[in-house]
Amino acid sequence: MLDTKTLLYNTRSRKVEEFVPNEEGRVSMYTCGPTVYHFAHIGNLRSYIMEDVLEKHLRFVGYDVKRVMNITDVGHLSSDGDTGEDKMLAGAKREHKSVMDIAEFYTDAFRADCEKLCIKWPDVVEPATNCIPEFIHMIEVLLEKGYAYVAGDNVYFDTSKLDQYYVLSAQNEEDLQVGVREDVEEDTNKRNKTDFVLWFTKSKFDNQELKWDSPWGIGYPGWHIECSCISMKHLGEYMDIHCGGVDNIFPHHTNEIAQSESYTGHKWCNYWFHVNHLNTKNGKMSKSKGEFLTVSLLEEKGYDPMVYRLFCLLSHYRKPLEFSWEGLDNVVAVYDKLIKRIANLTEEGSVDEAAVSEFEKKFAEAMGNDINTSSAITVLYDMLKADISDMTKRKLVTRFDEVLSLQLTRAWEKEEKCADMELTAYVEKMIEERKAAKREKNFARADEIREELAAKGIILKDTREGTLWSMK
Ligand code: AMP
Ligand code: ZN
Repeated sequence: MLDTKTLLYNTRSRKVEEFVPNEEGRVSMYTCGPTVYHFAHIGNLRSYIMEDVLEKHLRFVGYDVKRVMNITDVGHLSSDGDTGEDKMLAGAKREHKSVMDIAEFYTDAFRADCEKLCIKWPDVVEPATNCIPEFIHMIEVLLEKGYAYVAGDNVYFDTSKLDQYYVLSAQNEEDLQVGVREDVEEDTNKRNKTDFVLWFTKSKFDNQELKWDSPWGIGYPGWHIECSCISMKHLGEYMDIHCGGVDNIFPHHTNEIAQSESYTGHKWCNYWFHVNHLNTKNGKMSKSKGEFLTVSLLEEKGYDPMVYRLFCLLSHYRKPLEFSWEGLDNVVAVYDKLIKRIANLTEEGSVDEAAVSEFEKKFAEAMGNDINTSSAITVLYDMLKADISDMTKRKLVTRFDEVLSLQLTRAWEKEEKCADMELTAYVEKMIEERKAAKREKNFARADEIREELAAKGIILKDTREGTLWSMK
């Protein structure tokens, strides 16, 4: 472990706190995954990029991280409350496909976007539809413990049973009154306005394509229950960090805490990490509003996805970020200059291990200051300017890029790839020449070729399939 502290803003305590995991050296981390009814927009991906650097920072300083993410393929209604149509069903209707086809297509598309943006795929990724028995079990326990009730054939969580419901935000009940928030309709089954659905039955949405048998009738789970159950299935009842965009704070994460802590009877997750929104001039970029930009669209316009990643890393995750084409163009120039500068680092000099440790510490401190990615990038520039050998710089660029994932070493990799291709072409030419020499019974020349290659560390092996080669 590096000898450095990580400070994180915790939405639950509303303070910047030192991060201390439950188990020494290990971190359990959960991320709310995408609702796979459409492509992810670059706003969603801002959240995933910033969560990715958080995870990579924790690994960089030496933690063993296990990260879990759900895929929402059922139960997320068009309103974050319990009203409207299931988003998946709306997506299926829009494209005249089945819900499962839509889910598979957009999960793959999301994974491809993550690859393009160098976002590491979490260790465990679980679709909600895989875990119906777990959801039913948790709901049964909540009913047994008196935290839930059945009304109008749906199962609801009873928020009046909690000492404190709004643990993450200072929301008040007035805000939830019908007509004040446009997406809140009155559900007469609810005992309290803040109650939320754990299990829907056909009484509510008869046309739901995906439904399962349950003790309360054929139906499907509410959205919030999936994250509580999927995280506990893989990370147990105590979790270190839960991530998401700020729009998840209420009601989604508030409801996750309500049901998880009522189920376990103890505090569930210690740190809540929320990424602020990517906005357009007209407000939050959102899938439902239909006005959204995708990674593919950026590529079509000629932007390298790494430029968007850098655009995100240059601002702090807790601040709203306004997207503009001019802003992105400025980052194109910054990225090109940075890549060129790194490409020019030679393989001269030896690695100064003391300088490596010193800069690694500075970098970890910048990142550890509430994931201050822009100051971590400043450390990168300071390091490139420092009076240390190019080989030391190369090593540090490689280390920093384990966290930044900006493909900073792409120029050298190209060089290495070219060198590999040249080597292959050379060896193959020599093998052909040796074959010809043997055909002409010029065994002296054939041996000479074998020796010439051996001197370069290339070993030949004659097999029935032909001559194979490998490096010593
Ligand atoms: P969804 O697919 O709608 O469930 O959202 C996936 C993730 O993206 C969640 O963590 C959201 O909080 C986050 N998110 C949604 N809109 C934005 C935005 N405009 N900027 C940043 N994150 C967002
Ligand atoms: Zn969630």
